[in-house]
Amino acid sequence: MHEMSRREMMRAFGLGGLGVAMAATLARGEDKGGTAMPVAKPQAFTLPPLPYKSLDPVIDDPTLALHHDKHHAAYVAGANKALDELAKAREAGDFALVKHWERDLAFNGSGCALHTLYWNSMWPGGRGQPAGALAEAIDQSFGSAAKMQAQFAAATKAVEGSGWGILVWEPSTTRLAVLQVEKHQNLTIWGAVPILVCDVWEHAYYLKYQNKRPDYVESWMKIIDWESAAARFGAAVK
Ligand code: MN
Repeated sequence: MHEMSRREMMRAFGLGGLGVAMAATLARGEDKGGTAMPVAKPQAFTLPPLPYKSLDPVIDDPTLALHHDKHHAAYVAGANKALDELAKAREAGDFALVKHWERDLAFNGSGCALHTLYWNSMWPGGRGQPAGALAEAIDQSFGSAAKMQAQFAAATKAVEGSGWGILVWEPSTTRLAVLQVEKHQNLTIWGAVPILVCDVWEHAYYLKYQNKRPDYVESWMKIIDWESAAARFGAAVK
């Protein structure tokens, strides 16, 4: 695929944060063929627009608007603030507050990455089914799509406090796995590539579902964007 269109595709499907191998390639300034490539310049965190106008009735419009325009935006602002403060500390050679700002960067930066993936894990009314290589990998890792979805929903409902249910590709064991992430950054596997992401912070569902998180998760399972998931899976296993 042409480099420009691949970059556009990755942005469209919320793949911007996943490319460990690709980032390493960019950092080396070469592609697999050894051709010289420009090293990407550092950029600020940004708030991507929602890929749709509404997810009603599964997610009500006020929740969607608040979640994207206020909560996700706050993670973007927080992550950029942490980057700025760390740059100032480097300039001044004063790392007295480094623990605070690194913690902020991990929290808000992970919030940015996961929210972008969350928006791209859903489609109004759902889209597609697990198919092709993704379906094969799901069968191999979980036994069947139904078993994977049962584990994903159970793990997501059982997140302690605020967090996420995440289907990941784990490259070192070449298997798909379900993570039950607390906050945005705890209980991950380094190198794991997110394929499907469900937000179970209360701000994601409380206006409509109140304390009934299981009802939200069950409804959420019906609006999964399997086409976008397949694109992320394809990029992860490449
Ligand atoms: Mn959220």
